[in-house]
Amino acid sequence: MSLARDSKEDGAPKSPWSFRLLSVSGIPIRIHFTFLLFLVWIYLQSQGQLMSFGLIVAVFVCVLLHELGHALTARKYAIETRDITLYPIGGVAMLDGRPSAKAELWIALAGPAVNVVIAAILAVVLFVARGGAGFAIANVPHSFLAALLTANVWLVVFNMIPAFPMDGGRVLRSLLARRMDETKATQAAAAIGQGLAIAAGFYGLISSNPILMIIALFVFIGAGQEASMSVTRSFLQGHTVRDAMQQRFRTIPHGSKIETAAEMLLAGSQHDFPVTLDDEVLGMLTRNRIAEGLATAGPGGYVANHMNRDVKSVAPTIPLEEAIELFGGDQTPILVMEDGQLIGMVTQENLSEFIMLQHARQQARASYGYRA
Ligand code: ZN
Repeated sequence: MSLARDSKEDGAPKSPWSFRLLSVSGIPIRIHFTFLLFLVWIYLQSQGQLMSFGLIVAVFVCVLLHELGHALTARKYAIETRDITLYPIGGVAMLDGRPSAKAELWIALAGPAVNVVIAAILAVVLFVARGGAGFAIANVPHSFLAALLTANVWLVVFNMIPAFPMDGGRVLRSLLARRMDETKATQAAAAIGQGLAIAAGFYGLISSNPILMIIALFVFIGAGQEASMSVTRSFLQGHTVRDAMQQRFRTIPHGSKIETAAEMLLAGSQHDFPVTLDDEVLGMLTRNRIAEGLATAGPGGYVANHMNRDVKSVAPTIPLEEAIELFGGDQTPILVMEDGQLIGMVTQENLSEFIMLQHARQQARASYGYRA
């Protein structure tokens, strides 16, 4: 149903509440725990009628094919998909990068296009079957295929609603981006989506339709997030890592004890320390790792045993927008390396300060009417 981007570390599970079911063309397909609960609920609701249970499973296979439509089209534009997760409300394909406005149009359209194809095939099959030539599907109730056809038509209609995080919202944004800059296009598309969500939520309220209200809330929040992410990106645009990196920070030699790290943590505002051996960075010792080390090995433990060896590093000339994609869910800073030397660090805190200052600069320009 929707496309999302994510910047979690490789190998880290997407959500502790989901598990990997299978892989298709190297893309892990995950099932969220709530989806299993949903299946159980449907099964109980259907009171053992396997047809309606089978229909739900078939609809989710169609949702999965829809997501694969997004993922495989994204691959054409050299954007890999981290994983596809199935939730009771639909599927989410996590893309590993941000497509250009043009690519986004085709990636977003590819999902619903899959359901158009499935619906067309089912329509042909039903047409032939009703014409008396459908001996191959003689044992399959027509109503099952007819219901699956209807579900696919709904998947197309629902996903083409021009509101984030629906595919239609992305199509709208990429079309608007042809006439205006991308941030403005996102804000306009988000505003349209939120307007629609309010209208749908209100209609859900007066017609006492809780499902519609939940979907409206989901769209409203999704649109807001998309708009604020886009504003953040606009502040980062045109800047490199060097502009935002922290240049004064302390490192800790790899032979140090946890006690020393704990003292360094208390002595200043720095939370995370690169662990070094001469000029080489061996790992990162985050605040959590220090606490973990203290708890498990005590103050006499060595930092080298507790550091995170999976260090993320970038060159100072990399665009800031690209660098922040590297931030993991664990908020570990990104190291800035030049000619093998550690010259800076980008942390979540100094990045939010950078964004705050950019915002303030833009406001100053707007209120005094000059261009810097
Ligand atoms: Zn979709």
